[in-house]
Amino acid sequence: MAKLQLNSIVKYANKLGKDPVVVTQDMAEEVYQAINRAVFRGTLPMPKIIVGNYAKKGFWGECEGLQRGSRWGEHYTKCISIEKHMPLKTLVRVMAHEMVHQWEWETHGVMTHGEKTFFIWKEDLLAKGIRLSIII
Ligand SMILES: [Zn+2]
Repeated sequence: MAKLQLNSIVKYANKLGKDPVVVTQDMAEEVYQAINRAVFRGTLPMPKIIVGNYAKKGFWGECEGLQRGSRWGEHYTKCISIEKHMPLKTLVRVMAHEMVHQWEWETHGVMTHGEKTFFIWKEDLLAKGIRLSIII
């Protein structure tokens, strides 16, 4: 599959509006990689991405971080879980939100919705047409 640019994805997602799509594995991975390249300069190691029916469990996305070895061990991301049925625009926002959690975890060992490690990505994401918020 060709590498999709984030701005093409965001433009297309805005065109689709609120029409839900069935999120495929490829789609979720393309969105992850496009955000990683455009916003995180390709620095995030891609975790396992799991697409499933999570909305009925009460969430759209989830980032699961772990540590290797001792409490001082390396922080890494085991997986990002993503809901299967939502508009493409929502997928982009949910993925960006979870990727900020991945970045927080791997660089600071925390997952927050705070100003210091979460919302510092707000402007960079907004510049790409993605709104970072706590509630999707
Ligand atoms: Zn969150």
